[in-house]
Amino acid sequence: MSQYLDTILELQRALLDLKEADKRLTGIPDWMRELHEEHKASLAEISTLEEAAEVAAKERRTAEATTADAQEKLKKYQQQINKVSNQREYGALLQEIDTVKRQITTSEEQAFSSLERSEQAQKELEAKREAFRELADRYAAETARWEAEKPGIVEHIDTLKGRIAGYREQLPKNVVSQFERILDRHPAGAMAPVRLMERPGGKGPREWHCGSCNYRVRPQVVVEIRNTGTMVQCESCKRILYLEPAEEATA
Ligand SMILES: [Zn+2]
Repeated sequence: MSQYLDTILELQRALLDLKEADKRLTGIPDWMRELHEEHKASLAEISTLEEAAEVAAKERRTAEATTADAQEKLKKYQQQINKVSNQREYGALLQEIDTVKRQITTSEEQAFSSLERSEQAQKELEAKREAFRELADRYAAETARWEAEKPGIVEHIDTLKGRIAGYREQLPKNVVSQFERILDRHPAGAMAPVRLMERPGGKGPREWHCGSCNYRVRPQVVVEIRNTGTMVQCESCKRILYLEPAEEATA
């Protein structure tokens, strides 16, 4: 097989490894994922409870302010009652007093129920925080273990980058750019092995096909790839075709 194709394959392997290593470095490792999710969910629960407690406390303050206002009014009305001069004014004032008393009852009930809710949320919050402590310790330990693994990955990434630069230097610029364009289109791999396959029903000689998309590859193209190492793209998926060592003898 041509020198180029071998080098392009090596370049591709290094590029795909680099992508994988980058992903590992920036993402959450698989062995930590479950704990990571648990930790995240717990934090979200705590924040929901904190919000509920905050809302209840605010409602309680509002209700208490309403009660205080109404009591102020009630006091004023009760002072006025000695000064009314007729039955009509007296009746109207009694009605006002009645209304304001009802308001006091309502806002006192509201204050009480929001106090209960706030206390309930606080209690749940404390229990949740208590339970979270153990989880947070475990999470910190695993995070530390993960941090300890990172320098190794960084080192691996540096090695890969060095290798990639080397392969690029070994290849003509136009070959590199063509390969990279195809890799952009097919991020999982720009190369496709040609494979000998039985014809349907097993009749007649076996045929060469693109190992990625199954499109037929003419035998003379396969010979060309083997003998001159020409870079040939699959007519259908446009991946660069290559011969695997095991198939090379057959071509
Ligand atoms: Zn193809």
